[in-house]
Amino acid sequence: MQTQARVVVIGGGVVGCSVLYHLARAGWTDVMLLERSELTSGSTWHAAGGCHTINGDPNVAKLQKYTIELYKEIEDLSGQSTGFHMTGGVMLASTPERFDWLKSTMAKGRYQGIEAEVITPEEAHEVMPLLDPSQFFGALKTVVDGHLDPSGVTYAYAKSARKLGAAIETHTMVTGIRRGRDGGWIVETDKGDVTCEHVVNAGGLWAREVGRMVGLELPVLAMEHMYLITEDMPEVAEINRATGREVYHAVDFDGELYLRQERGGMLMGTYEKACVPWSERQTPWNFGHELLQPDIDRIAPSLEVGFEHFPAFQNAGIKQIINGPFTFAPDGNPLIGPIRGLPGMWSACGVMAGFSQGGGVGLALANWITEGDPGFDVWAMDVARYGDWATMSYTNPKVQENYSRRFSIRFPNEELPAARPYKTTPIYDRMLSLGAQMGDSWGLEAPLWFSPDGTRDAFSWRRSTDFRHVGEEVRACRDNVGLMEISGFSKFFVRGAGAGAFLDRVLACKLPKPGRMTLAPMLKHDGKLQGDLTVACLSEEEFFLAGSGMAEVFYARWLEEHMPGDGSVTLEVVGLGLVGLSIAGPKSRDLLQRLTPEDVSNAAFRFMDIRRMDVGFAPCMVGRVSFTGDLGYEIWMKPEYQRHVFERLMEAGADLGLKPFGLRALNAMRLEKNFGGWAREYRPVYGPLEAGLDRFVAYDKPAEFIGKTAAVKERDTGGALRLISFVVDANEADVIGDEPIWHDGDVVGWVTSGGYAHHAGASMAMGYVGKSVADSDGPWAIELLGERRDARPQRVPLFDANMERMRG
Ligand SMILES: Cc1cc2nc3c(=O)[nH]c(=O)nc-3n(C[C@H](O)[C@H](O)[C@H](O)COP(=O)(O)OP(=O)(O)OC[C@H]3O[C@@H](n4cnc5c(N)ncnc54)[C@H](O)[C@@H]3O)c2cc1C
Repeated sequence: MQTQARVVVIGGGVVGCSVLYHLARAGWTDVMLLERSELTSGSTWHAAGGCHTINGDPNVAKLQKYTIELYKEIEDLSGQSTGFHMTGGVMLASTPERFDWLKSTMAKGRYQGIEAEVITPEEAHEVMPLLDPSQFFGALKTVVDGHLDPSGVTYAYAKSARKLGAAIETHTMVTGIRRGRDGGWIVETDKGDVTCEHVVNAGGLWAREVGRMVGLELPVLAMEHMYLITEDMPEVAEINRATGREVYHAVDFDGELYLRQERGGMLMGTYEKACVPWSERQTPWNFGHELLQPDIDRIAPSLEVGFEHFPAFQNAGIKQIINGPFTFAPDGNPLIGPIRGLPGMWSACGVMAGFSQGGGVGLALANWITEGDPGFDVWAMDVARYGDWATMSYTNPKVQENYSRRFSIRFPNEELPAARPYKTTPIYDRMLSLGAQMGDSWGLEAPLWFSPDGTRDAFSWRRSTDFRHVGEEVRACRDNVGLMEISGFSKFFVRGAGAGAFLDRVLACKLPKPGRMTLAPMLKHDGKLQGDLTVACLSEEEFFLAGSGMAEVFYARWLEEHMPGDGSVTLEVVGLGLVGLSIAGPKSRDLLQRLTPEDVSNAAFRFMDIRRMDVGFAPCMVGRVSFTGDLGYEIWMKPEYQRHVFERLMEAGADLGLKPFGLRALNAMRLEKNFGGWAREYRPVYGPLEAGLDRFVAYDKPAEFIGKTAAVKERDTGGALRLISFVVDANEADVIGDEPIWHDGDVVGWVTSGGYAHHAGASMAMGYVGKSVADSDGPWAIELLGERRDARPQRVPLFDANMERMRG
């Protein structure tokens, strides 16, 4: 066995083999895969082999499309059949809500080029005669849908990789991983050590255990999963004879079932509600080509629905029931990318649909390793979305919740209950006592809105029970003053003699002077957005950065990766070590002035000033900025002071009409100000010009900031896209995100976010469209719950376009 390689991939399941193949295809042939047994010895060998393009997340759908289209390539290169059958499929809805969901999913697929068609139950019956149309409300017919041979696919990747020069060592168990002296890695195996620059954890069922070899607790858990295979069915033979093709795939959401033809019979699998985790603490190393004991009682409720919806099953004999484990992350998406703090260590795990997603995951990893960037939008799959807080004890209930809801609708206003409450701030109970309806913001309880009378969210695609109350919060804020908790932001202190020079290189903005703040786009080498932060200069050697909370690890990973190694700069990831309250609205200055000895008049404390000052008795850091787009302040303090500051603000604000507000009111206010947010408008695939952040990029500053060359090129050539705000002709429902934008009868873009702007009294959307149509007056339309609604671009903000309130 060779003892050195540039990359070692641990795990010969479908994911590891795909990563290896993509690395070799990218020209990195000095790469090696280590597999403790034969290839496919984890969850891969007993998979049902189904693959679909449609996914609720358009970026995941895109990755699935790529994966399926890859099968021909690896088959041709390797000479190994993947056993791929493109059958086409139907996704079935038995309720109007599910049908709405299918329509919105189809709409999202439009700009990804995913072919799908809404059809009636009768039309669904025509293409998939096993179903009883009276049981359904409607369906989606898909084209790129099929099934394959899991082992064939894995070997096709492996053989293709080998052909390109990659090495594969089976029966080689990785027993430990340690740092080499040169900063690389030493992978210890039962056949000796291998030194390498990069290690990819594609350990599948054992990914958690491989992670633990480097002190990492990855948030993955395996769940038992069952499917049954019937004896040959005459109905299947008849369909094959009459149509000359295989039976269509079916996903029956309300039955929580998936079905496909398997030889002369059918395969039916289910994501049962009464789900069971497998090996919650430690996956046994001696588990291999084994199956788990089937438990038909557990899946009986789903099967009963299946037999009713697909009556031919009632007469079919069951040939076999397969029960096998496979892994999930808490949100069901893969965990991919570099591990913060462990340069050269990569994650390629938590891939719950290896045959729909494995190809895209391999491509992203290979791009990232060889070129420093995944090359497409993998934000929703980035391992950096979870931090140390995603412990095993948190992960386990969350994964079970996700599994049991795999085929459930999640409404846009629906919060999931498992593993909550978890992280809370000192004013959590006070917020609850004020009627706060909490949301889960990456483990932190955060008020979404305040219910004055015990009303709860009624889950819906349409405006719901919160609408009126959110409107009240917005009005209080716009007319008087509102208070919001902002502890969930990611926060960092960058300190040291080299701090200024470092930030000048890593941020694209002009650095502020001491006591000032600015918006700070952070760019990748390709000039696309790596972050949108606020940077505050506290002194020549101390800076404060604040950004989206969900990006804390993502930002920290990038900042640490680019920090000088000479000790001249330190980064403190503050987390909840600093919590915050924001006050905003025309009376917010009066309120602040009542509680601080500092002069906070407009002349003494200007827009974008930041200063340490007492608020109540407490030492705080106060910045004059607000995401509401109004006069406002962000007040940061240590947690032990938050309750005091909160109570003082509430008391002092009572006669000013102070009202607490939540994230939904904030969304309503930032929309009428045309403000974008991270992970929605700002993602790592958009350039600053495209995203409208170019005015914060100091193209001509002396520092060679990361991404400068590409950003200048984008500025000069104009990029490809434009972010636009729209007012939508909507009633009863507002856009959420990912809906298609139509221009003159063609789909030319997609919505990034939307909602109702209560102060302006307008339904709003933000989204990207192609540059060539961006300045057009239309006709524009946005698809909302299957209907095209007229829309008009809102080029200047509906609120405070001249920034008189914000700066005044
Ligand atoms: C019953 C069932 C049905 C399924 N149906 C479908 C389906 O229809 N469609 C679909 O897309 N997906 C399906 N899946 C999921 C699919 O199987 C997984 O997404 C996929 O197998 C994940 O592959 P992987 O490579 O990440 O992990 P694994 O297949 O678990 O591979 C990990 C590999 O790493 C090796 N390994 C681990 N640790 C070490 C070590 N220390 N040293 C050396 N080697 C190591 C293991 O031996 C193993 O071979 C199904 C799963 C089950 C259980």
